[in-house]
Amino acid sequence: MAKIKIPFNKPYLTGKELDYIKQAIESGKISGNGIFTQKCQKYFEERYGFKKALLTTSCTDALEMCAILTDIKPGDEVIVPSYTFVSTALAFVRQGAKIIFADSREDHPGIDEDKIEKLITPKTKAIVPVHYAGIACNMDKIMALADKYNFLVIEDAAQAIDSYYKGKPIGSIGHMSTFSFHETKNIISGEGGLLAINDEQFIKRAEIIWEKGTNRAEFFRGEINKYGWVDTGSSFLPSEIIAAYLWAQLENLNDIQKKRNKIWQQYYIGLKDWAKKRDIKLPNVPEYATNNGHMFYIVCKNSNQRDLLIKHLKSNGILSVFHYLSLHKSKYYKNKYKGSDLKNSDYYSESLLRLPFYYELTTEQLNEIIKTLLTFY
Ligand SMILES: *Cc1c(COP(=O)(O)O)cnc(C)c1O
Repeated sequence: MAKIKIPFNKPYLTGKELDYIKQAIESGKISGNGIFTQKCQKYFEERYGFKKALLTTSCTDALEMCAILTDIKPGDEVIVPSYTFVSTALAFVRQGAKIIFADSREDHPGIDEDKIEKLITPKTKAIVPVHYAGIACNMDKIMALADKYNFLVIEDAAQAIDSYYKGKPIGSIGHMSTFSFHETKNIISGEGGLLAINDEQFIKRAEIIWEKGTNRAEFFRGEINKYGWVDTGSSFLPSEIIAAYLWAQLENLNDIQKKRNKIWQQYYIGLKDWAKKRDIKLPNVPEYATNNGHMFYIVCKNSNQRDLLIKHLKSNGILSVFHYLSLHKSKYYKNKYKGSDLKNSDYYSESLLRLPFYYELTTEQLNEIIKTLLTFY
């Protein structure tokens, strides 16, 4: 096998991370909810209009907080796409929910909004749409169902920072939403995440769950004169060291987004004709959604063509990777799954391929990847 010349991902350092981490350490306060945490949270609230933003140690943690806030009772159901990362379902399973898996759209790996209604029952407590590749789901359709049948909408916006639906920031539409700053996302802090709350009724309890079931956040603001154990919760807040890293990234968010969008466009233009000839599909961005340059994927004809492409790229020193395996067919869930076939989810499991994507990917590297693909067969 050839030496890897172009990895799939490379975490980007803006240059200020170590300065801010040093500042955090020298301030003498490195536990959570300090100056950097509050700066980051305020930034998200102001830029995206979230009523409340809380940093978490991962998007998985933020989803777990949502599951607690949803107040799942035995037998309650939560609708989740099958084509997603484990955490979207796992967070709710841990609270005892029954997961109702939904299929993907034919033209996009995101949830098929037109097939949701038949999955709704009187037990439906929430739906968790995933904005795959940072491309918005049709939120009007989903919010209308939530209003009609009275359940919560929790946006899994892990990949969707700085992306928009009809001009509204992703994450500002559902009752709550979650973001990831894992090293593979657009802005990063190693591990890290965010819970955004748009429905005010959840804010107070979210702060308590975030702080190990105590009302310490209120105490810090001087609203009460002692704090104690008042509810369930966990240690969901990250240390100031993580928040300091994230702050350096946020200061460069516009630049990062501009660069990533440019890479995405270069891929698209470079591969358009080739893909058409080979029966390969490029990403489809509906007119109501923006593209936040999170990833560039192609959808192959079948798994065989995908395997050959992965090999071809690898033999030229380029790493490409497939993505999710349908969760309803996972080892953990397949025996519990009672629903029907989810053929689009399985189709993306078998044929979707992600190409290298990171801030420091140069035009020369991009051209090399594109050239290598064009010489396939
Ligand atoms: C990355 C990702 C997660 C998990 O994020 P972590 O921060 O690693 O917990 C959840 N859902 C989706 C759709 C993701 O892409």
